[in-house]
Amino acid sequence: MSGMQLKDLSPDALRAHFAAEGLPAYRADQLATWLYAKGVEEASGMTNLPKELRARLGDEWQTRALSTDQVAHSEDGTVKATLRTGDGAVIEAVLIPEESRTTLCVSTQVGCPLACSFCATGTLGLGRNLTTAEIVDQVCRMRELLPGERRITNVVFMGMGEPLLNLGNVVEAIRTLLHPRGFAMAPRRVTVSTAGVVPRIPDLISEVPVNLAVSLHSARDEVRDVLVPINKRFPLDVLLGTLRELPHLDRRHPVFFEYTLMAGVNDSVEDARVLVERLAGIPSKVNLIPMNPHADAPYRPPGPEVVDRFMGELVRSGMRPTLRRSRGSDIDAACGQLALREPPPREPALRELDPPQARPPQTRRQGAASGPSRG
Ligand code: SAH
Repeated sequence: MSGMQLKDLSPDALRAHFAAEGLPAYRADQLATWLYAKGVEEASGMTNLPKELRARLGDEWQTRALSTDQVAHSEDGTVKATLRTGDGAVIEAVLIPEESRTTLCVSTQVGCPLACSFCATGTLGLGRNLTTAEIVDQVCRMRELLPGERRITNVVFMGMGEPLLNLGNVVEAIRTLLHPRGFAMAPRRVTVSTAGVVPRIPDLISEVPVNLAVSLHSARDEVRDVLVPINKRFPLDVLLGTLRELPHLDRRHPVFFEYTLMAGVNDSVEDARVLVERLAGIPSKVNLIPMNPHADAPYRPPGPEVVDRFMGELVRSGMRPTLRRSRGSDIDAACGQLALREPPPREPALRELDPPQARPPQTRRQGAASGPSRG
């Protein structure tokens, strides 16, 4: 289907588009309210719009960018959905309900070009960037899966893809998340995570006042080069130097560092000391994530004692790290496990040719989970 995809436009951009067509701003506002606040996408439901405008919906104007393909429910309440784009690409989004909040983890690309050695999504390579509408529609599709009382309170850009390699569409989608006539979310309930596309970090922060998370995983270049290969292009000096210069960082608005602990790779006491040293002077919060093992990477999570020792070293140095409970790993919905492990249902014949999936043992850890991040 062709036509204008309305969710490509933030509420302000929709007004501008309507103005260019000689339509009044309040009509754009009514339309935005249906789409975002009320979750109505069918012309027939938009009762306050005149017939002429309703006629253009679904024909000249598209209101849906994604359809829900498969939904998996984890025993811990996490919900992962595979969502299908208009051109048949498949992406994943994850809902993480907690006591006091419900976090949605969204994708920004089909696959990912960064090839981090421990991440399942990295094995896919890049398909393409998602459009603004495809990013925004993840919120619409996923909230339909929530029980009545629950609402999405937080959005993290930590699904498939590297947000800063799709910055324009990510920023426009965030405008819709934050806009009073969009999803009206508080900026600090939105977090964008990057593996370190350093030159785009100041651009993001100057466009939208959201939280920044950085996938660090090691404070040593020789290790980070292997885990997060974009480190070769933008090494730690460059990354951390840029973060030091960011305006408006303070104790209340720190950088969130994600540090996936991998046995024997980045989990020693010395690794912890180097981390403390290198982060000195950057208002930050470190989020430790024991590696979620999967078939595509040789890494394993450290044992509980090693995690405690690493954490203890950070605490002794005055940091207040958090340990992220892994959520949804039984349905491959945990960090770094989004790789479309379930083949799409269209090729049942092919699925039968697949060898049985070798599943590494899952390690579950209990611990405090805080910060804006997943789980
Ligand atoms: N490309 C962006 C957004 C993805 S966020 C980024 O890298 O920040 C997904 C997070 O999960 C990243 O911090 C990533 O490093 C982490 N991750 C990837 N694979 C993982 C795994 N197997 N176990 C735990 N965390 C993993």
